[in-house]
Amino acid sequence: MPFTSLGLSAVLLKTLADQNFTDPTPIQQSAIPAILNKKDVLGIAQTGSGKTASYVLPLLMNLQQSSGPKNRHANVLVLVPTRELAEQVKGVFHTFSKGLPQPIKTLAVYGGVSINPQMMGLQGVNILVATPGRLLELVDNNAVHLNTIETLVLDEADKMLNLGFKEELDKIIALLPVKRQNILFSATLSNDLQNINQILLHDPVVIKIEAEEESLDRITQVAYIVSDEKKGPFLRQLIKEHRMKQVLIFASSVHLVEAIVNKLRKNRIEAKPIHSKKSQGNRSDTLRLFKAGHVTALVATDLMARGIDIDALPYVINYDLPRSPKDYVHRIGRTGRAGNDGNAISLVSHGELHHFEVIQKKMGKQVKLIDSENL
Ligand code: AMP
Repeated sequence: MPFTSLGLSAVLLKTLADQNFTDPTPIQQSAIPAILNKKDVLGIAQTGSGKTASYVLPLLMNLQQSSGPKNRHANVLVLVPTRELAEQVKGVFHTFSKGLPQPIKTLAVYGGVSINPQMMGLQGVNILVATPGRLLELVDNNAVHLNTIETLVLDEADKMLNLGFKEELDKIIALLPVKRQNILFSATLSNDLQNINQILLHDPVVIKIEAEEESLDRITQVAYIVSDEKKGPFLRQLIKEHRMKQVLIFASSVHLVEAIVNKLRKNRIEAKPIHSKKSQGNRSDTLRLFKAGHVTALVATDLMARGIDIDALPYVINYDLPRSPKDYVHRIGRTGRAGNDGNAISLVSHGELHHFEVIQKKMGKQVKLIDSENL
């Protein structure tokens, strides 16, 4: 599903393209339409899932229809546990506010720094991103009023409870209008959190995104040492030996993706490329054909890894290794999803062996390594 079908404005779609966000992540696919519809949302998702943009984008859309801020009365309140997250969330609001017809002012307030600049900054604010303690201080000083908040977001709510913010949260929630939209994100759903969400959320849309690390346990990983010039024939052999009907192959460059597809086709294996040089329409068609089982091998660059979400994909092959260990986890995390088992096979040249060590260390898992020369 492309961003264009989620109901976002042309300005936001342009910023998304400028940011190289080509396809929505799973949480964005579910949360954006729900938040646009003013529904309450409970998202169980970790950092890295794209959760921030999943509320930033629709809230900016909704604010475009809002009457604008009265003095020191914000429309949206985002509560976060730490100043780092406050700055990060503010940054995402800033990025996507660019070029909007109705200008949006976002301010981050948190403790550990002087309160005065924050007090002055509250003039004309639409979106307030805050840690709970400092927000209450500002309220006590009459520097901000919370009785016009239309939407409350609790981001990393589990962390907020762990840090002992429960009492402050209750105080803040009591200051908000009763009728409002509530959005709650948490990495886990603890008992404490169950209590909060039962008080807070009304008939919420519940979205659960499994952490990559959790699903890694369901993936059988193996790596073969293969020299670069033998990777092509070795790949074809793997596909044939395992009788693969649906395999996602990753390579680091557009050029390599195209070369792999050509070779596979020459060997009568149905293959299609997917990468940033293809139009959105072409990418959607390719993905549809692959999901429907009409294409055996989908060959992709890392940029496409996030958008490819297929519940029962049995095989992922790394034709080469991605530069970042995070991308490796994203790549292999395309299989072993939604409770299914998966297989991830990496072709590692001698030159990549050291890098593969680093990847395994970062991932916290050892992968069985087989020398293809000994097969
Ligand atoms: P978050 O889970 O909100 O902390 O986001 C994790 C990272 O993913 C951030 O660096 C975002 O810039 C990036 N990101 C979010 N959505 C997308 C998307 N649709 N495509 C590519 N990158 C994204």
